[in-house]
Amino acid sequence: MLALSPAAKAASPGEALLAEVNLVLSQTAAQSDSARLDTIGTSFGGRHIKAVTFSREQRKPSTGVRVLIMCGQHGNETAPIRAVLECLRSWSVSEHKLGDAEVVVVPVVNPDGLVSGRRLNAANADLNRDWASPKQPETTAVMSLVDKFRPHVAIDLHEWTDSDSCRQNCIEIAGSGNTANVALADAIAERALRRAKSHRFPLAKVFYSPASDSRLAHRKLTADGVCGLLVETSPRHCDSDRRQAYEYIIQSVIDETSQPSDPQVAAVVSRLVAQCPKASQWPPNAVGQNVNKLSDSGSRACWTMLTAFAIWVVGFASVPKRNRCAGVKLPGRMSKLHTATGADAEPSEVSIATKLAAIRSRSRSASDPHINDLALVLSDR
Ligand SMILES: [Zn+2]
Repeated sequence: MLALSPAAKAASPGEALLAEVNLVLSQTAAQSDSARLDTIGTSFGGRHIKAVTFSREQRKPSTGVRVLIMCGQHGNETAPIRAVLECLRSWSVSEHKLGDAEVVVVPVVNPDGLVSGRRLNAANADLNRDWASPKQPETTAVMSLVDKFRPHVAIDLHEWTDSDSCRQNCIEIAGSGNTANVALADAIAERALRRAKSHRFPLAKVFYSPASDSRLAHRKLTADGVCGLLVETSPRHCDSDRRQAYEYIIQSVIDETSQPSDPQVAAVVSRLVAQCPKASQWPPNAVGQNVNKLSDSGSRACWTMLTAFAIWVVGFASVPKRNRCAGVKLPGRMSKLHTATGADAEPSEVSIATKLAAIRSRSRSASDPHINDLALVLSDR
């Protein structure tokens, strides 16, 4: 009797893609010594939400930047998911591409929407309008991951669909706010734009304002002190060009944080990492049901957690109160730590802010004449 693969048994294209995602995640965790697969939560419809973590220093403090990559909030946007699968396949055999970064990938935030081919989740909620005060199980699961992983950078991948009026390929970042994170986001976007130009792929950098809809994931995370970015590509371009674009945009995040192109950005990265080191509860299996490499013996896991807790207690007691960032709830504490404005701003960051103002003034007047219009249209993604 002929054995069918999970994808072959699938009843819908979305179900087939979800089966492929699960297969790639399992293969990635099996092939790479630094990768670990976790189930971080369960969707409204009862499907697992999975994340794969790449870390060279499993169970040890990391000295690199932590990056969160997520896509599939909207179930009818499959191009970013396919691109991320290519990244996972690549990283599982070429880990050097990750540099010193520790990377968590959530390829399908909305598995119910993917299976049904719909933008919304099974509770008819638009997940990318739920982040200001997460209520859906999918957004709650990712925020729980954020609380524990505490990313310095987060990138949320989307795509325009046929019903969208705006179809410009773009990277959206904050137009104001935390100076250090704005500088880093700008440097990442500029690196991605250079790569897009070399591939002759039209890609724009756009900014959102403080008045923009704050319910979107990258804006919420930016408000919490994370360097947040959002990507959109247009279905007017062929699949291979778009997949390549997502891949080099993601790689730009890792490259710019591992080997910054500007000494001033390097100073910002160093400061961010120093100010917010890895949370002590990460990576022990406090995230959720672990399905791969943390299935060690119970006693070893227990001792590991006890040891980590003891280290955390000693470390927490010895750190001045204003520098404590290993707390249970991330947003308030982390936003202070990642904020370098006013009296806390260092000269290098002030000069970066000046540089950015000049860049933006040039972009608005010359190369990106539609930038303000785009900021308005993009609020509808
Ligand atoms: Zn979307």
